[in-house]
Amino acid sequence: MVEIKNLVKNYGNKNAVDDISFTIKEGEVVGFLGPNGAGKSTTMNIITGYLSATSGTVTVGGKDIFKEPLAVKRQIGFLPEQPPLYIDMTVYEYLSFAFELKGCEFNKKEHLGEVMEKVKITDVKDRLIKNLSKGYKQRVGIAQAIIGNPKFIIFDEPTVGLDPVQIIEIRNLIRGLGKKHTVILSTHILSEVQAICDRVIIINEGKIVANEKTADLNRVVGQSAKIKVKVAGPNKEVLNLLKSLQGILSVTSDGIKEGDTYSYIVDSNPAIDVRKIIFNALASKGWPMMGLESLEAELEDVFVKLIQGIDGKEKR
Ligand code: ADP
Repeated sequence: MVEIKNLVKNYGNKNAVDDISFTIKEGEVVGFLGPNGAGKSTTMNIITGYLSATSGTVTVGGKDIFKEPLAVKRQIGFLPEQPPLYIDMTVYEYLSFAFELKGCEFNKKEHLGEVMEKVKITDVKDRLIKNLSKGYKQRVGIAQAIIGNPKFIIFDEPTVGLDPVQIIEIRNLIRGLGKKHTVILSTHILSEVQAICDRVIIINEGKIVANEKTADLNRVVGQSAKIKVKVAGPNKEVLNLLKSLQGILSVTSDGIKEGDTYSYIVDSNPAIDVRKIIFNALASKGWPMMGLESLEAELEDVFVKLIQGIDGKEKR
């Protein structure tokens, strides 16, 4: 278990982390989110022992990181956004180097064999890291993080720059690691949190503004009432008609004609299903609806909603 209690970090007068507390249980995968400057990196760097705290405690498996830094660091695996890979080494040489650095007490060959199997890089173990694809490089970074079987693994933006297939593979890998390890994932991608995390902690201006199960986050996201409608009809008239309908808060159109259709972004009251209303109104005018899709909520929308409180409850 990872326990953070009343953690504070000041840089001069700046309160970067302002009295945050949370716990993460064994086998949980938790997303750690927040806008730029929220205090994510500062918190991560304190948890991983790279940075001291102004006050508060961090314990990993019951051990205090400030009192027993070496023992705690042994229990933490960290994959920074830019993994510290030595690209002129082969995969095995690099992992062997990381093994020595961590002062691991396992049988090296056996342990590295297991680690490479886990992240599926055994077949490239003799390749130079610089010749690997970005997805494979990321796997090597993950392998480095899990050497020594840390109880607790921290991933910082692990899928940035990967292609869609690699993203799915890395997410599955992280999900799998979450079964045995405690995982914190820092990301700005909402769908990544939804795909991987059991829980999400959101930090804003150094304070925790939400600590929710992902299912509850999905409820908030599900309330997003932005839809994209494509209509074959006169742009201005359609725009005015849509704006006049019940439950519709705002409508925008880029005015670009594709074939004989224009697209409209409709923001509506989440309590009203406006799809039928739109369909009927367009049909009565003889303007065919050529497409209708719900738009995924942006992380920023979710921040705003969560900061305001789920179900309107005020959150601190
Ligand atoms: P995030 O990772 O969420 O973007 P950070 O933890 O990097 O946020 O930063 C939190 C706040 O602390 C920001 O306002 C940032 O400008 C400030 N900050 C971070 N590092 C330092 C530093 N070394 N000196 C002064 N201020 C800092």
